[in-house]
Order: sequence, then C-alpha cells, then structure tokens
Amino acid sequence: MNTDNYLNIKTFLLPNVTLIAVSKTKPIHAILNLYNTGERNFGENRVQELIEKYEYLPKDIHWHLIGHLQTNKVKFIAPFVHLIHSVDSFKLLEEINKQAGKNKRIINCLLQIYIAKEDTKFGFSFEEAEQLMYSEELKNLTNIKIVGLMGMATNTEKTEQIRAEFKSLAAFFNKHKNFQFSIFNLQFLSMGMSSDYQIAIEEGSNMIRVGSLIFGER
Ligand SMILES: *Cc1c(COP(=O)(O)O)cnc(C)c1O
Repeated sequence: MNTDNYLNIKTFLLPNVTLIAVSKTKPIHAILNLYNTGERNFGENRVQELIEKYEYLPKDIHWHLIGHLQTNKVKFIAPFVHLIHSVDSFKLLEEINKQAGKNKRIINCLLQIYIAKEDTKFGFSFEEAEQLMYSEELKNLTNIKIVGLMGMATNTEKTEQIRAEFKSLAAFFNKHKNFQFSIFNLQFLSMGMSSDYQIAIEEGSNMIRVGSLIFGER
C-alpha cells in the first residue's frame, strides 16, 4: 500500500469531493491498514469478494459496489451495501428495490452512463437514462434512491478525449440535477480513477474511485 499517495490525494482533495478507496483484489490486511488511518469508504467490483470482505472487516465501513451487478446477486449485498454505482438497467433497479424492501432498507444507487469509446463498458446511453428518469414506473420503486450518476472514460493516453467524455457527463448531470422527486435527486457525480481523477475533478466530479494509486498495481 502507498500511504504517501493516499495522504497526498486526501490533502489536496476539495472538501466536496468524496474518495472511494478501490480495494478489489487486495487483501484484508491492506484494507485494515487504510481503515486504521481513518478511511471508511471502500469500493469493490465483485459481489463474492465484497461479501467476504464485509464479513471480516469492521461494520462501520461504507461499501460501494462499483462493478457490473447481476440481478441474481443483488440479494447478497442488499443487507449492507452503502451505494451501488453501477446500475445499468431498469430490471436491476427493480430487483434492488425488491431486495431493499425485504431488508427494510432504502438503497442508494447511481445510474451508470456509458461515455467511453469502447464496447467493453456497461451503462445507459444519455437517451436511455433520460427515458428512465422521466418514466412513471420509476416512481413505484420506493425502496431505492437515485442519488447520482457514474461514468468511466475511455482507457487511453489522450487526455483531451478523456476530458471531453467527462465534460459530456457533467453537462448531462447539470442539466438534470434540478429535476427531483421522492426517490430521485442527483447529488453525486462519480467519475475519475487513478489515471484520470484530476481531470474528472476539473470537469465537476465530486466522487472519485481510486485503486492502484493507493493500493499498488493489481
Ligand atoms: C478498478 C476500478 C476503479 C479503480 O481503478 P484504478 O485505476 O485502480 O484507480 C474505478 N472504478 C471502477 C468501476 C473500477 O472497476
């Protein structure tokens, strides 16, 4: 683990930006190390790994699911997950709503928006997200809250392309953030990882998901 990098990021982070320490593939002791310096937000991309870590680690950790989520796995994380960043279908939202209800919880979700020029990344297009946001069906899902948007830029060295992708998501976020109802209120814009979080913040991100810079290469 690179504590210096971690402290550097924390020191220069504006107070409105939340850091999620992405601990996927990293062992329990590395997470505990960071926990002991005061970190409470951790991100995982696999359900199985997330539930194992949840079992072992202190219960005041806020666990963020940042990877693709299959509907049949929602039930395993519904009792404790803090925020699901990677909602990419209405069917998934319905299942999260159902499992949240069974656990007498309201689960916070972000809609993942597809902004990259790659065909490996999940998410809604802007049009699909708009359709969902303004649909009547959404209003029935009273055990979820949509509290923001998440996006990943193309994995490229071209910083201008990365910036343009983040800019497009930030513009979409700003366009819709005043549209609010019971279960819908866009507050969080989750974009930026180790290689591009500074650009993301410059473009308006207020939630960054940083793994390798803190925990070392995977
Ligand atoms: C792995 C991952 C990250 C962190 O990536 P790093 O390059 O290690 O900072 C952020 N977001 C998502 C969705 C990821 O899967």
